[in-house]
Amino acid sequence: SRYVVTKAHIDGAPKESDFELKSESISLLLDSGSNDVIVKNLFVSIDPYQLNRMKSQSSSQIYSTLAAAINPGEAIDAYGVAKVLVSGNPEFQKDDLVVGFITWGDYSVIKPGAMLRKLDPMGFPLSHHVGILGFSGLTAYVGFFEVCKPKKGEKVFVSAASGSVGNLVGQYAKLFGCYVVGSAGSTEKVQILKEKLGFDDAFNYKEESDLKATLRRYFPDGIDIYFDNVGAEMQEAAIANMNVFGRVAVCGVISEYTDSGRKATPDMIDIVYRRIKIQGFLVTDFLNVYADFISTTCDHLRAGKMHTLEDISTGVESIPSSLIGLFSGHNIGKKMVQLAYS
Ligand code: NDP
Repeated sequence: SRYVVTKAHIDGAPKESDFELKSESISLLLDSGSNDVIVKNLFVSIDPYQLNRMKSQSSSQIYSTLAAAINPGEAIDAYGVAKVLVSGNPEFQKDDLVVGFITWGDYSVIKPGAMLRKLDPMGFPLSHHVGILGFSGLTAYVGFFEVCKPKKGEKVFVSAASGSVGNLVGQYAKLFGCYVVGSAGSTEKVQILKEKLGFDDAFNYKEESDLKATLRRYFPDGIDIYFDNVGAEMQEAAIANMNVFGRVAVCGVISEYTDSGRKATPDMIDIVYRRIKIQGFLVTDFLNVYADFISTTCDHLRAGKMHTLEDISTGVESIPSSLIGLFSGHNIGKKMVQLAYS
């Protein structure tokens, strides 16, 4: 069984030499009385937050178990879909499909108490259960509906809009009846947003020198909702263009993850006079909305009203480059790695 580990803590942009593949044989025999479950990993999720867990000091780890530090040399847990090989836990049987926290490797030994449940694919490809029907989808759904509290006709701006969470925020917002503009880092991505996903407009932020002026051009009447995935100067520019009683959902600040010196410093007086509400959130705060999210999203998918954007690499050796690629925009849509086919 091969699995990915970090060689040391990573502060700054990750690179291939920060990672190594470890290999060890795993026994398919459980000790008597063991409640462990041994699974073959099929798909694992590649997420920006993993980098924050690899830092020497993660200030966020005290707030969420999902942000627990990743120690060099140790297996790395990640969301994914797997198949049960051996189970000492009466909840799971051999050959069950499961979804939850597995590891960045070929196989995982899941201890009792880990977040794992049986998966009914409901006729959808397994990859959808990592992306649109997994945590990315839930993040987009709760971030938009529960945190932003949209009203029909409002004007919505989404950054990292071709990414896993961003593209779904834009699609939910369009279906709900909002006007949606997204920013992304290439011409191809901008085209996908406008032509495939139905965004009202989109722009390549890398071609813009004055983001405040850019947003004024796309939102001459101001922004009501900003779904922030990137932080730093994009957040400052969006806040400078917000309407009175605007809402900012801070989902993530990826442009700050690789550079501890980069920070958003929005103009506080704008926030005061325009009564702007800025709220950070974690998807795990909203697990109570899960059933509603799944039924709504499955209905949209079956009706052909939502589209999936998935970016799948194969093999455990492609995990490090997949993570690294998130920070330079190599991915289009949900980044994941397929480890086995059945
Ligand atoms: P994405 O699929 O969006 O991948 C990351 C994307 O971010 C890249 O494709 C790239 O696209 C963009 N990006 C990378 N570096 C920069 C930069 N310096 N400036 C601007 N854009 C950049 O990842 P996710 O959808 O998984 O995550 C999106 C955000 O949501 C992240 O901030 C993440 O931490 C957060 N998140 C938060 C959760 C929560 O519970 N709060 C849960 C899940 C995710 P481009 O080509 O446009 O630059």
